[in-house]
Amino acid sequence: MATHQVSREVVITVDDLKKAFGQNEVLKGITTSIHRGEVVCVIGPSGSGKSTFLRCLNLLEQPTSGKVVVDGVEVTDPDCDIDKVRADMGMVFQQFNLFPHLSVLDNCTIAQVTVRKSNKAEAEKRARSNLERVGLLDKEAAFPGQLSGGQQQRVAIARALSMEPKLMLFDEPTSALDPELVGDVLSVMRKLASEGMTMFVVTHEMAFARDVADRVIFMDGGYIVEEGHPDEVIGNPQHQRTRAFLDRVL
Ligand code: ADP
Ligand code: MG
Repeated sequence: MATHQVSREVVITVDDLKKAFGQNEVLKGITTSIHRGEVVCVIGPSGSGKSTFLRCLNLLEQPTSGKVVVDGVEVTDPDCDIDKVRADMGMVFQQFNLFPHLSVLDNCTIAQVTVRKSNKAEAEKRARSNLERVGLLDKEAAFPGQLSGGQQQRVAIARALSMEPKLMLFDEPTSALDPELVGDVLSVMRKLASEGMTMFVVTHEMAFARDVADRVIFMDGGYIVEEGHPDEVIGNPQHQRTRAFLDRVL
């Protein structure tokens, strides 16, 4: 069961979001919202548009039409300062994208110094406190290549947290990991959720979605087919397409 508090304050509003790559319409009209403290898990078959949806939230993909508002700022407005919005959104990808030539500590400070304009001492203090949060304080001097995939992903989470984001986006954060390393990353994410972080998580980890999500969104073919409490969407799906997907993955 989700144990954290969800507020009524809306953090992200998505209104009739569409995205096409050439003739290929990948998002066909997505409307939803995410509240402060909410954990939303997005599930669905490969190619259903989950990553494109997540990437449209911070304009890593430019939507074709529709509106996305993050913390009161319309990011789909051409005049929006997207770098400012992005600084408040932590992102964790399937591939960890750490800087291989920088130590773990420097990976966690570089954006604080260059984007946030923090001084080095403050940045290191925040980095260490977040490395401690993910259980990797003892690795601060290591380089990414010396760490396991699970450890690298936890560093990527600590790096994102060091920017003190208002919300975190995760795109299949455990899909590239050996099975025995998945658990450590998921427990860090569970802890974040219990601490009240707003989280938008594309995942194939059904147990995580069932236990941690406040809401599950099932996507197929560029649409939200069904969304609701995990007990409903995963436990008692109403749509044939949701049932067919769950039969394949559960
Ligand atoms: P999912 O994350 O659910 O697997 P994606 O959002 O990655 O799905 O992809 C949905 C569809 O969009 C796929 O058909 C994919 O080929 C297409 N697509 C995604 N990114 C691009 C891109 N940059 N250029 C062209 N097509 C893309
Ligand atoms: Mg994807």
